[in-house]
Amino acid sequence: MRKKIVAGNWKMNKTMDEGLALASEVVSMVKDEVKNNALAVLCTPFIELQGVAKLTEGSPVSVGAQNCYDKESGAYTGEVSVPMLKSVGTKYVILGHSERREYFGESNAFLASKTNAVLKGGLTPIFCCGETLQQREKGIHIDFVNNQLTESLFHLSEEEFKKVVIAYEPIWAIGTGVTASKEQAQEMHEKIRTHIASKYGKAVADETSILYGGSCKPDNAKELFACKDIDGGLIGGASLKARDFVDIIKSF
Ligand code: PEP
Repeated sequence: MRKKIVAGNWKMNKTMDEGLALASEVVSMVKDEVKNNALAVLCTPFIELQGVAKLTEGSPVSVGAQNCYDKESGAYTGEVSVPMLKSVGTKYVILGHSERREYFGESNAFLASKTNAVLKGGLTPIFCCGETLQQREKGIHIDFVNNQLTESLFHLSEEEFKKVVIAYEPIWAIGTGVTASKEQAQEMHEKIRTHIASKYGKAVADETSILYGGSCKPDNAKELFACKDIDGGLIGGASLKARDFVDIIKSF
């Protein structure tokens, strides 16, 4: 059975006090209300990881980072390595979010190297892929997303690939309030699964968790999560309110 996951991407939001307050609200609501087997992950800014990891200890909520560097240590001013993330209790790392690709020039090749680093450190990559509106309008969105997966992930062995979580996030839906319809999302998730199967076989593809991201909210999560190939969500804006985030987790 592939895992159902709802991961919150706080992006560059929340000071320490605000972040700890949000995390403790989420933890207590999840404990009281979530009866399904979905995994909840809070992907916080770097500085909040340690505090949130302590606060979530022994709860069904895990902690993730939003980025990392691909080297283990050394003269890389301002960067944060996987061993550092691991040392404070981080379990997941978002890689290749469209904002990092766009504003920080992260290429498929660089993301391949970051994926290696995350897996080597024993953490779980949440690998983001997704097309622009222009690419979709030109009808090249499926090839574009497949190529992101091929260039960043398909060098992995089967054993390594099985540890990766995919997040399909159409760029035109991120932070815009425009969600992909359930048909559009399901179609892409199915194409992604087929592409994975072409490299690693059907059994591996069937076990891969593929999350949807892009203006996912409590009022649309249920219909998205009901789709055959959608295994949860990567949630931006709605993860900043405990009530909304937990209602999304309850949407399975
Ligand atoms: C995201 O940034 O990963 C995201 C899905 O954002 P939002 O939910 O705000 O569209």
